[in-house]
Amino acid sequence: MGSVDTIVAIATAPGAGGVGIVRLSGPTALHIAATICRRPLEPRRAHRVRFAEPDAAEAIDDGIAIAFPNPNSFTGEDVAELQAHGSPAVLQQLVALCCRLGARHARPGEFSERAFLNQRLDLAQAEAIADLIAAADIRAARAARRSLEGAFSARVEAIGATLVRLRVHVEAAIDFADESIETLGGEQLREQLQLTCRQLEDLLHQAERGRKLRDGLHAVIVGPPNAGKSSLLNALAGSDRAIVAPRAGTTRDTLRETVRIDGFELTLVDTAGLRAGGDAVEREGMRRAHLELQRADLALVVVDARAPLAAGAELREAVAGVPLQLWVHNKSDLLHEVPPDTEEVVHVSAAGGQGLEHLHARLGALAAGAPGAAGEGSGGEFSARARHVEALGRALAHADAGKRELDHERLELAAEELHLAHDALGEITGKISADDMLGRIFASFCIGK
Ligand code: GDP
Repeated sequence: MGSVDTIVAIATAPGAGGVGIVRLSGPTALHIAATICRRPLEPRRAHRVRFAEPDAAEAIDDGIAIAFPNPNSFTGEDVAELQAHGSPAVLQQLVALCCRLGARHARPGEFSERAFLNQRLDLAQAEAIADLIAAADIRAARAARRSLEGAFSARVEAIGATLVRLRVHVEAAIDFADESIETLGGEQLREQLQLTCRQLEDLLHQAERGRKLRDGLHAVIVGPPNAGKSSLLNALAGSDRAIVAPRAGTTRDTLRETVRIDGFELTLVDTAGLRAGGDAVEREGMRRAHLELQRADLALVVVDARAPLAAGAELREAVAGVPLQLWVHNKSDLLHEVPPDTEEVVHVSAAGGQGLEHLHARLGALAAGAPGAAGEGSGGEFSARARHVEALGRALAHADAGKRELDHERLELAAEELHLAHDALGEITGKISADDMLGRIFASFCIGK
């Protein structure tokens, strides 16, 4: 599936660097590169060259040029890489020259999109490239690498292949309507479908962990009004070890910031105080707080160290469903004597800074031990996206429904459910995809990828 045009982009990160790479892909990529380098480029060999306008006496820069003729390239098309000194001015000049010679600026993600369209990668693998580039820590990077190598896709494809086989079996049985399904191996069919559902469930759980790895641990700060939740958020976010990035979707009563602690990402949500009663505005705040708690991996429960039990029962109930919990007794500076910290309780002073170092350490340890963040069994972890988790959930629901239909010997309906389950899996690898979904996915990549 050859593209008609040649695209060009700076493939290295914006800003100055030791080396910067301009990447070309498409039918005239090698010709353009040869023109700029003033020599033909042998396949896959590094050439020391001068980059220059045709006929110009002075070079733009000197560097290395490499040609990757199709199909043995990242995109599957003819690709050329021009490695110059990493000055934005030099790299932009090279891109402009490529455009004068017939290339056009690549859209974000267009190199990966071409690799996908030329079947060099499936969709989940292409997404893994973006995830690998964005990986904030070594574990996320390793998981993205595994997805890029096809660990996730292979599991999806294997289950998809089984679903097709089972569906063919069911459809064959439909053609022998006067025979009972039992005489056509119905028992075995049901067993295999049962097994497939369990495999789908396993994969769904692993993908959910992979998604957390990619998205980071989601922590929520909760506690009664005036316990010092905002102060703690600021203290955590403002410390040297934290990198703070404002998140879109900030609302009046839930403030979000992403804090990176020891390589893990914690999204802190300072919710409006949790308490019974209140007016309509407060009730809305509470509703949102509970929503945040439902999707949280970790609850940081902040209470006043002088009266830690004041809202105890209510808070305990509110955070009961959150997998990890850490109680933070704040305002320890107002205590005559600070009790020792325990497994569940950390004493800090958000205002004075006492105990914050220790809290950081505890958060790092919790994040490291959290499901999906690391820990045992991490050997096979792969990165996944919310989109994948959602599609797997749908595949599982259809496969389950197929099993029920089969139990009732409604073979047409069973076959249709298996068909829908297979389609849902196809969305993950891109075997079955709406064009607009592809557009959205690749548009979120960076330019030059
Ligand atoms: P929130 O309503 O839970 O978000 O609480 P705030 O962060 O707004 O804090 C409530 C009040 O407690 C403010 O007046 C803070 O200055 C004060 N405060 C917060 N943390 C501490 C602390 O560690 N020690 C002391 N003495 N006061 C604090």
